[in-house]
Amino acid sequence: MITLKEALTKSKEELDSLKVEMIEGAKESSLNAYIDFASSGDGIPILIKDNIQVKDWSITSGSEILQGYIAPYNATVVENLKSKGFSLFGRANMDEFAMGSTTESSFYGVTKNPYGEDRVPGGSSGGSAAAVAGGIAIAALGSDTGGSIRQPASYCGCVGMKPTYGRVSRFGLASYASSLDQIGPITQNVEDSAILYDAIASYDEKDSTSSDLPLKPIFENLNGDRKFTIAVIDNYISEASESIQDAYAKTIELLKEAGHTIIHKNMTNTKYDISTYYIVATAEAATNLARYDGIRYGNRIEGKNLEETFRNTRAQFGDEVKRRVMLGNFVLSAGYYEAYYLKAQKVRHLIRDEFNKIFEDADLILSPVAPTVAPKIGSTHDPLEMYKSDMYTIAINLAGLPAISLPVAKDSEGMPIGLQLIGKAFDEQSIFDGALSLEKVVNYTK
Ligand code: GLN
Repeated sequence: MITLKEALTKSKEELDSLKVEMIEGAKESSLNAYIDFASSGDGIPILIKDNIQVKDWSITSGSEILQGYIAPYNATVVENLKSKGFSLFGRANMDEFAMGSTTESSFYGVTKNPYGEDRVPGGSSGGSAAAVAGGIAIAALGSDTGGSIRQPASYCGCVGMKPTYGRVSRFGLASYASSLDQIGPITQNVEDSAILYDAIASYDEKDSTSSDLPLKPIFENLNGDRKFTIAVIDNYISEASESIQDAYAKTIELLKEAGHTIIHKNMTNTKYDISTYYIVATAEAATNLARYDGIRYGNRIEGKNLEETFRNTRAQFGDEVKRRVMLGNFVLSAGYYEAYYLKAQKVRHLIRDEFNKIFEDADLILSPVAPTVAPKIGSTHDPLEMYKSDMYTIAINLAGLPAISLPVAKDSEGMPIGLQLIGKAFDEQSIFDGALSLEKVVNYTK
């Protein structure tokens, strides 16, 4: 598949025939990455996750409850893409309401990993990552609440970028956890990631958490020759598998050879990351998903009375969504609010402070994306095990920071290993420049 940068040089006719080829390719593919071939407008085709509104397209967030729902307006990212010569092309599969790490909780069935079809593509933006890695999409949008762009990108050997909270408008993104969600690009390489980030980032008065700090274009200022001070978190790495620890150590050497300075740091609050995230995220999710009651949103399944109608309608949620709605309502309920939710909000500040402390000495932090490579389909039975696999990504959302994951190596079975560079809030330029430098030195090939 051509890159996004190459696509910028193609004529309308060439892009139109590419779209025809893409549909054929996706139909022949066994990945189950696309759930629809909807298409809107002329220009370079960008695949869209099923939780981002494209006017007149179906949008279901991978859920049964939203079957048949048609988006009444465009998300701001979609308006931005259209105004910059991109077109919207195809719906990508995802975990139901973006809750998950494997895309197995989708109503449409699991997407497969192009590196091994018995493996998950990661999640929740698994369709986006598998399509880009599998050569059936040029580039895609995903959303990242606790790793859902970076982790599937890492499992599928492509580049995934989560912007600083507030940089990309959430208007028109189906909310999971509003204080953590960000839309971002999944692409074949770092340059393409910068191109797509530039296209979607904007201040938006329709999103009250949107930032109006000045926004400079990244791609035209990309500089892979900048030298950075990069922190590695020594006490953070031991929980990763051997192949990931090995790739991490080799990457550190490559970064040193490329002229970057490596400094060693520790983080003390990491043991609280998962509990903090799963309290904040489920509390916000329970609130956001309350609207799917068959009256305001969601396919209604009538009962004898209103309560039974609510119950029947909400029974359409899958198990993972139900689990989180219950957990979220529990941590918000009287008597538990202070013990869980309020405490989690305090710990969230500690986590952010710890990152800021490291950023007093470092420009970037290098970290694994996930503790393992992509697991086998059907192998993640215990939800707590799945939550643990988010250990390297969720703190970045809790702190609102930008991060980019890119492939650096493969394990002995040929599965991709990704690492991420985390930056200071609103310093997207440095994570892209650092990633470009890293991409050059690791020279990853599919
Ligand atoms: N795996 C995490 C979760 O299930 C992250 C998901 C996401 O970023 N949307 O919450």
